Amino acid sequence: MKKNEIYQAEITGMTAEGSGVCRIEGMAVFVPMTAVGDVLRVKIVKILKHYAFGIIAELLVPAPGRTEPVCPAFRQCGGCAFQHVTYQTELEYKQNFVKDAFTRMARLNPVFEPILGCPSRYHYRNKAQYPVAEQNGRLVCGFYARHSHRVIPAAECCLQPGIFTEILNYLLPALESCHISAYDELSHTGELRHIYLRRGFHSGEIMLCLISRISVRKKIQSILPELHQRFPAVRSITESVNPEKTNVILGKNIALLSGQNFITDTMCGNKIRISPQSFYQVNTPQAEKLYAIAKEYAGFQKNETLLDLYCGAGTIGLSMADSVKALTGVEVIPEAVENAVRNAEANHITNAEFFCGDAGNLAETLLKKEFSPDVVILDPPRKGCDNLTIRSAVQMRPSRVIMISCNPATAARDAAKFSEQGYAAEKVKAVDLFPGTAHVEVVLLLSRQNNENK
Ligand code: SAH
Repeated sequence: MKKNEIYQAEITGMTAEGSGVCRIEGMAVFVPMTAVGDVLRVKIVKILKHYAFGIIAELLVPAPGRTEPVCPAFRQCGGCAFQHVTYQTELEYKQNFVKDAFTRMARLNPVFEPILGCPSRYHYRNKAQYPVAEQNGRLVCGFYARHSHRVIPAAECCLQPGIFTEILNYLLPALESCHISAYDELSHTGELRHIYLRRGFHSGEIMLCLISRISVRKKIQSILPELHQRFPAVRSITESVNPEKTNVILGKNIALLSGQNFITDTMCGNKIRISPQSFYQVNTPQAEKLYAIAKEYAGFQKNETLLDLYCGAGTIGLSMADSVKALTGVEVIPEAVENAVRNAEANHITNAEFFCGDAGNLAETLLKKEFSPDVVILDPPRKGCDNLTIRSAVQMRPSRVIMISCNPATAARDAAKFSEQGYAAEKVKAVDLFPGTAHVEVVLLLSRQNNENK
């Protein structure tokens, strides 16, 4: 196989990153924006030792699952992977990613319940962090191109709520009138790095956080009253100064510019206060269904106790507090823990306590105090759980462990570790919280095999 040459092939598989796979001269070639069943001519763009990358030179026979992308930026933008196939096809791919992670990679054999699709394929997100750039003398914001940090100006992303576009259309010229410059990653100069917007799905309350290299607070004072006036739903305007050369978006601190430093939304019937730093699922109605499935998997009996590790602002545990005797939550971000404590109070939940710290360390500390919950919920970030967390959770001897994860590969890996330590992977359900993208959420029930000494 040679670079820049064109070969005919058929797409026979899909990677969890959303690239189609074909075989050319015995080698796997990854081709983005293809569908399983496509017959095409592939131009080879990069060859590595064991695999290669290609792009579509000509689509000869389109796969049955194909459809026209809705978003004009789809081909360049790195956000979506599956706009070119029907939602049914996208769900089949995602179901397969999950099955593959658990059976082929982790060698587990749980029951796979059918994937739960999202009723709205577009405008479902409640959060956007737009990188800012200067193009042709104007401030623009949008999304990074595939595998790059080049900003594609796209205030109008079809995954975001329409009001975000309206806010940006007002905000960008207003910031220009205040002589705000865009941050430039290469030279580490300029001011504004990201515009971060969040909107409570049920409440409609909006949070705006400007992330800048050096404070723009003084320069933008004059536009804040008009911003509130035009968009009364904007309840919180904050600034986070991030002077570092880093891909991490938020800086260490958040300073209040106007309004409050939080917004409130409702989740699973509870009022939830969210700070800019707190994790909050980006697709609220689907997350509510996900948490309901987790609750059903937990199958709480009377008087049981629940440990919610990686609890964020407390949303999962608080949605189950009425079914348990006591809830303990653990989370590493202090502001999220503050939110969780306050969310329990605001909803008159009196059987909950929250601790701030690393999940593994705190689980170990709780274990030493002979803490022994009936159910442990683990909802870690993409990288999954560390061994200390898993070992400590196992030693607490809960009869059920519920794993929730936005990364089926690490969830399956961690489930295999539980399985080696006496827990059976009973059932898994994929829930699509992220239509259009290659991401999918999973919820999994593990149950302890030997219940004698409890
Ligand atoms: N369960 C919450 C949050 C899930 S996201 C919800 O559904 O909203 C994962 C959470 O884990 C984030 O809040 C993140 O801040 C937290 N986290 C990341 N690393 C952690 C660690 N080592 N210990 C405890 N919490 C951690």
